[in-house]
Amino acid sequence: MKIRILFSLLIIQLNAFGQDSVFIRKIFTEALDRGKAYSDLRELCKNIGPRLSGSANAEMAIDWSEAKFKSYKFDNIHRQAIMVPHWERGTTESGWVTNKKGRILKLNLLALGGSVGTNGLMRGELIEFSSLDELKKATKQKVSGKIVFINKKMDAAQIQTFNAYGGCYAIRGEGAVEAAKKGAIAVIIRSLGLPIDEHPHTGSMHYDNDVPKIPAAAISTKDAEVVSEWLKSETLTANIDLNCFELPDAPSFNVMGELAGDFQNQIITIGGHLDSWDTGEGAHDDGAGVIHCMEALRILQALGYQPKHTLRVVFFMNEENGNVGGKSYAKWVKEKGENHVAALESDRGGFVPRGFSCDGAAAYIQLLNSFSELFKPYDLHIFEQGFGGVDIGPLKNEFTGIPLFGFVPDSQRYFDFHHAPSDIFENVNERELALGAASIAALIYLIDQRLP
Ligand SMILES: [Zn+2]
Repeated sequence: MKIRILFSLLIIQLNAFGQDSVFIRKIFTEALDRGKAYSDLRELCKNIGPRLSGSANAEMAIDWSEAKFKSYKFDNIHRQAIMVPHWERGTTESGWVTNKKGRILKLNLLALGGSVGTNGLMRGELIEFSSLDELKKATKQKVSGKIVFINKKMDAAQIQTFNAYGGCYAIRGEGAVEAAKKGAIAVIIRSLGLPIDEHPHTGSMHYDNDVPKIPAAAISTKDAEVVSEWLKSETLTANIDLNCFELPDAPSFNVMGELAGDFQNQIITIGGHLDSWDTGEGAHDDGAGVIHCMEALRILQALGYQPKHTLRVVFFMNEENGNVGGKSYAKWVKEKGENHVAALESDRGGFVPRGFSCDGAAAYIQLLNSFSELFKPYDLHIFEQGFGGVDIGPLKNEFTGIPLFGFVPDSQRYFDFHHAPSDIFENVNERELALGAASIAALIYLIDQRLP
């Protein structure tokens, strides 16, 4: 008798596995044969371009997103009004170094996001540090009146490039504050990028109210190598001219659309951030992520899938320099009395999918792991505990125990393009992008099926 029950349970499980694997195959076929991800990303990158919070381009992108959701006939398309920081790069942005004999090296540089301007051309002796810790240990006398150059390399030996990025992140975020504490007049950092090339990489930085605000810029890794070489044998003067500035906060929006579920008030959010830095086209960061999620919803709809939970795609605004979109969304949906059961984010580029991470209890990691057989034919193999995403992160504060899933693509080339002028549509591969969208659609389908 017992054996018979076990046998029928096994059959039920095998049937579920069979149904799931057939449906997932349909998802990948739809993405690869009739996918819209690549052409949608082209529109976002080429017709609109970079989308820094508060800019006219960001507003254009919001209108575009809403129109796209309408064209795909998503349910309940709406916006959430928010106020976002508004920083602008301005027009002048140049820099060079000179030695005592008048030899010149022009710098490929970008002001860091949020930096103050130089108020005209600024000149100062350049002093190099190999890390933030080394700068912290230096005497005020040594640094005062100079321009600090922090030349910390991302660790090329790390297999997960996000770990190498994490190891350098502080020089960008804290460099200006630590340099100003020692009396420096400006800070220049080596770009947070892995290849040695001419592209400077911008990104967010911050000031402390009780420390003078000094200008901060990143130079290309190639320039950093040359400057460092020159500094070994001679004194250099850095010349920089930045006229970036901060404006009052500007009105903006998160924008969203849904596939209404049988349990309408049980929400699964999937999304990425619509804003990007103001250089390049925000193609991998995070054009690919928002397109992945919109395409995942479109695929499920095209296959006639009726979800149990409401599947909501959210294009968040202002991840790059404030995360106002993510923070406001979590509070807003809680106040509206919605019930959120899971969320997923794609914000690691549009590269070939490797799997998913989960920020959640052991039972959710187990659930994620149980999907690994179903993803085997598509070469996904990472199903583990890990980061969800910056935009969906605040949902944890409002919905205790909510599992947050992060899409994990291959990371080897991400820091070639991240926050750099090279983050353009041409550097995203059509098949890799489509496979990412299909993987996300498949995971969302499985989560929708398995979660109560
Ligand atoms: Zn991003």
